[in-house]
Parts: sequence; structure tokens; C-alpha cells
Amino acid sequence: MRLCDNIKYVKGIGESRAKLFSRLGIFSVEDLLFHLPRALEDRSEVKLISDLIDGESVCVKGSVASGVKVYRARNRVSVTQTTISDGHSLMKLTWFNAPFIANTLKSGGEFVFFGRAIWRGNCFEMINPVSESVSESKKTGKILPIYPSVQGLGQTSIRNAVENVFAALDEVPRDIIPPKVLEENGLMPLFSALKGIHMPSSAQEFERACKRLAFEELFVLQMGIRILGDERKNYTATPIKNVKCIADFAEELPFELTGAQKRVINEIAFDLTRSVPMNRLVQGDVGSGKTVVAAAAMFAAANSGFQTVMMAPTEILAAQHFKSFTKLFQPFGFEPVLLTGGMTAAERRASLEKIKSGEAKIIVGTHALISDGVKYFNPALVITDEQHRFGVRQRTLLTEKGFGAHTLVMTATPIPRTLSLILYGDLDVSVINELPPGRKPIKTYALKEDMRKKAFEFAKDRLDEGRQAYIICPLVEESEALTAKAAVEYAEKLRKTILKKYSVEVLHGRLKPAERRAIMDDFADGKIDVLVSTTVVEVGVDVPNATVMIIENAERFGLSQLHQLRGRIGRGSLESYLLMFSDGGKIAEQRMKIMCDTCDGFKISEKDLELRGPGEFFGIRQHGLPELKIANLATDMDVLASARQAAEKLLSKDPRLEDTQNIALKEKIRSRFSEVGENGILN
Ligand code: ADP
Ligand code: MG
Repeated sequence: MRLCDNIKYVKGIGESRAKLFSRLGIFSVEDLLFHLPRALEDRSEVKLISDLIDGESVCVKGSVASGVKVYRARNRVSVTQTTISDGHSLMKLTWFNAPFIANTLKSGGEFVFFGRAIWRGNCFEMINPVSESVSESKKTGKILPIYPSVQGLGQTSIRNAVENVFAALDEVPRDIIPPKVLEENGLMPLFSALKGIHMPSSAQEFERACKRLAFEELFVLQMGIRILGDERKNYTATPIKNVKCIADFAEELPFELTGAQKRVINEIAFDLTRSVPMNRLVQGDVGSGKTVVAAAAMFAAANSGFQTVMMAPTEILAAQHFKSFTKLFQPFGFEPVLLTGGMTAAERRASLEKIKSGEAKIIVGTHALISDGVKYFNPALVITDEQHRFGVRQRTLLTEKGFGAHTLVMTATPIPRTLSLILYGDLDVSVINELPPGRKPIKTYALKEDMRKKAFEFAKDRLDEGRQAYIICPLVEESEALTAKAAVEYAEKLRKTILKKYSVEVLHGRLKPAERRAIMDDFADGKIDVLVSTTVVEVGVDVPNATVMIIENAERFGLSQLHQLRGRIGRGSLESYLLMFSDGGKIAEQRMKIMCDTCDGFKISEKDLELRGPGEFFGIRQHGLPELKIANLATDMDVLASARQAAEKLLSKDPRLEDTQNIALKEKIRSRFSEVGENGILN
């Protein structure tokens, strides 16, 4: 049997089972080999009934001690019952909906049963135990892999198929890791690892095999990231020589830059002067003042006669940046230009003309900036704001438009340190780890329904002092339209009742861009007291006079999302308040507590990771990298470190992977990265 053979030819599969396998993405023998178990079930321990502990899952060896009863319960479910003996004690066994088991039991002999032993006050009982005759020993008395599966395809079918493949295979899958790397890192060959995962003789063997495959995955990832980084270094960018002028810009600001802002601006300025393209990530918690840092870089570019393109993930944010840049740059004679999908045809034409002619030096917009009709004059700097909101496709396109331009990405989503190591292996990272002075931590409270009246009275007091408020409406599962509708209805209710005296407006994703912009403008200008909104205000919106936020059904939001939302308030020197209503389980309560305890985005993201657990660790794919199937970023840090070292070492010897020993690896890297749109790597 060969790796490329169709799995329908594997003993025990056939046409109809092959269909079930295909639903798991398994078509060939090779696919099946790489369909890896998610976990192990340890059925290796066999105990005497007298030694059982209540609640444990174990095997018990025994034979039928009393008759086998089959009857129908009142709810029509068939029940099979018997009592077994291991020679010393008795145990009760019960199966539901498995009448056929009776025949097996009646045939006599010794069996092994695996299940959860429950103490019933006078004896132990197992419900629906796995059973087989002692001579079989396929399902009990050993460690078994648990596979991801689909309805109709049992674990036993998958296990049998895998075993049959191993028995009939005439070739082994090729190791993509070069022999030298295998040797230096003490790694077993791929085939041994696959065997150790599918048919482990011990939990340790399974562990070691998993680590081996995790290494491979992380090695490919690290190689790709490094190669991409090196390829970028071959581009040249326009050096922006005059960065001293940034001092003039800082002079005109209505505030003094923080130490962290100054440091980051210096780091950027240094990059800009070089002909190696800058590739820098600015990470700073919400409200740390990333916009003005970006503006400083733009100013240097504009002063040297070059264009800067800045892309924001939403119309609201683009419009807001446009507004603040207009204010910042007018004193210097630069007129920023806006380009978004929501503009009228005439507005769009006017913008496009200025972009093409080079008259526009500072260009702000949404992904409309990367649409086909846009021609730039001399882009030298490309900035993406809140980059985690963009897919890698969009980012790459933007970079292509400004081929070889300096790039700056800004994010408030604090990425756990472990992850940023991997993700940004090819990026330089600047951290703004200081908030502007006078910022007070946002007072955060988790409230129950009985506090509602008080909370609204409190909010109204702040409104009466001239402040503004956000009210965030709950997400309605699965549907934007329903979420929007709920927000509209909720605002209507508030207008008629408790907030009668105030001007209340609604903001949601279903409004036309122009309508949204108008509402945001009015809110920023203080014409609206209360903005009832869905999460569309989540990123970047900056209205310092808004000091109160009420979040309804806070349990429906993730921690990081709550933190982003909270970042809309506390943006000036005024005391700000977040009031969260929630009713939910234990996890929700833990989340609320973390929100109340800290305003530090890094801490929150780490807690988020802990609470969600590594299993639910957010997909790295959303950061534009291939998804990891085996490696676990929370537990495989040691593997990651050695994979990084190995990648570095190999690339220092063979940077383009031209050695014949490295060809298979090169192909693998290419195919993994083309999955996320990074085509042309290593061409
Ligand atoms: P974010 O990092 O979340 O994008 P912004 O750039 O929107 O934050 O800045 C938040 C607010 O802080 C804005 O109103 C901005 O004008 C103000 N700000 C930025 N830097 C300073 C500073 N050094 N001193 C005082 N206020 C500042
Ligand atoms: Mg921002």
C-alpha cells in the first residue's frame, strides 16, 4: 500500500466509510496518517473491584455472576443489566440501548470492562462500559488515542483503519526536516513519531512523539517568518532623511509627549532614515497615544515631499483620524485626504485625483485605499492602525501598492508575550508602556440587576455635569441585524423613560457610513449626550468628554473585547466609570472580577489566555500565519525556543534553501505560507 492510495482500499474502510472519512478531509492513506489524535484515553490499568475508588475510570476483569436481563424502561429505552464477579467481589453493569451486548455476555468466558466505577451504597456500578473478551485486548488494557471524528464514524473504526494502514504500508512519509537538524535536536524520524502518536505504548511515548511533530510545525513556521523577513530586507525603501523636523511638530502639539512616545518616535525616525524598509509594530494599550506617534512619522515623510498612506479598519476610525490629522497638520500647510467606501462618487474622484497627482501627502482611509482604481504618486510610508482587524491579504496588498515602502503597524490588542515572539519574529516591536499624565484608572464595577436604577441615576448625574456616556448593547448571537435592531429598540425605550431629558442616539453596523460618521461627529461635538451602540465603537474612537460607559450583558463579551470597549472612556484627565451589568456563570464572574481589578491590557490578555485555556487560544491565523495543528503555544514554549534556534542555524548556512537536502522543507514552507496568502516566498 502506498501513501497516495485512496483510503477506500484500506482494509475495513470501503466506499461508504470512505465517505465519512472524506468529511474529515481524509482522502488518501497519507491523510489518514496525519489525522492525529487529540488526546489519549488511558485504559491500561486493571483493578480488583475491592480496590476501586468512587468515580475513577478503570478496567475490571470478570465473568458474569448472575443472569443477563434485558428489558424496556418506561421511556422505551432498552436496558441490559448484569452482575459480574472478579472472583472476590461483585459489580453491577448497566447498558442503555445496547441489547446486542446480552448475546456476547451470555456466550460466557472472561471479559474486560472499562468504564467509570460509581459507588451505589452497597456495590460499584458501571454504566455503558466498554467490553471485550479477555483474549481480544483491542479496546481495553492499553492506552488508546482519541481522534477528532464525525457522526457515524466511531473511534474503533478510525483506530482499526490506522492500524491496518501501518500493517500494510510499503513506504514511509518523507521527513521534511533535514537529517542534520534531526540529529542536532535529538528528534526521532517522522515515521516513528507517527507510530508513537497513533499506537503509543505509554503516555510518555505519545508525549515525545507529539513534541517531535510540534517541533516540525514550529520549525516550518519560524523558517517561513525568517525568510519573509529576509526577503523584505532585499527591498529598498525611500530614505526619509529629514527627521529632525519632528521636533517642530512636537512643539505645536497641545501637550507634551510622554517619555514612551518620544522613545518610540525616535525608534521610528531612525528606521525612516534608512533605505532598508522599516517593518515596525507599535504596541500600546488603549489610550496610550499611538495616533500622534503615527502622525510624527507622517510629518517627517510629508516634509520630505513623500506620501503616507494610513489604513484604518472602520469608516468611523478613518473619519476620526482624518479629522485629527487635519487639525494637526493644517498649521504646516498639509491638507490630509480621506478615502473610504462610503464617500460619494464626486468626493471619491476628488480624493483620487489628489492622491495620484501627489498633492495629497497624508492619505487616510479604509480598505478602499487598496482597491484597484487607486494610484499613488510616491508612497514612502504605509501605516495600518489596529492591524489585528485586518487579514493578511489586506495588509499585503497595501504593502504591494507601496512597494518597498516603510511600514508601521499599530495595535492596542496586547498579544501575550509568548505569541508575539512567534508572530513578530520578523518585525521590530516598539512598546508604548506609559499613559499620558493625569490619566486615572477607570473605576470599574460589575453590577447585578438590582443596582440598575442606582447606576442610571449615577450616569445621569455625570450627564448633568456636562459629561457624555456610552451604553453598549449586547451582542445578539449570530446576527448583526438582530444586534442592530436590539440597539435601536433599546435606545427608543431609554428615550421614552429614564433618559427622557437627554439626547440619545444609536450607532450600529447597519447604518450607512455617512450616517455613522454624522452621528460620531455629533457625539464628538457634544451634541449627543448618550450614544447607544453596538461594538462598532470598540476600536479607536476618541471622545475625551465621554466618561461613563454602561455595558449590558457584559458576560457575552470576551475579556479583551471588554478592555477595548473600556478604552473608549478615561481618555482625558476626568474620572471615568465603567458599569457592567451581567448575569452569567462562574467564568463570566471571573472575567468581571479581572476587569474590576486591573486596567492593564497586558495583564488582561494573559488572564484571558488562562481562562480560555490553551485549547481555545485564539487562532494565530487571524494574525496572518498558518494555523498550528499540533503545537500548543501555551505549553510548547521550550519546543519553540529550539525550533527558533534550529531555523536560525539552518538559514545562516543555506538562506535560500538551495541544498538538495533542504528541498522538501522548502516546498513545505511554501505551501504552508501560501495558505495565508504569502505567495512567492522563496521564489
Ligand atoms: P490610542 O493609543 O488608543 O490610539 P489615541 O492616540 O487615540 O490613543 O490617544 C488618546 C488620547 O490621548 C487622544 O485624545 C490624544 O489626543 C491624547 N494624547 C495622546 N498623547 C498625549 C500626551 N502625551 N499627553 C496628553 N494627551 C495625549
Ligand atoms: Mg488608536
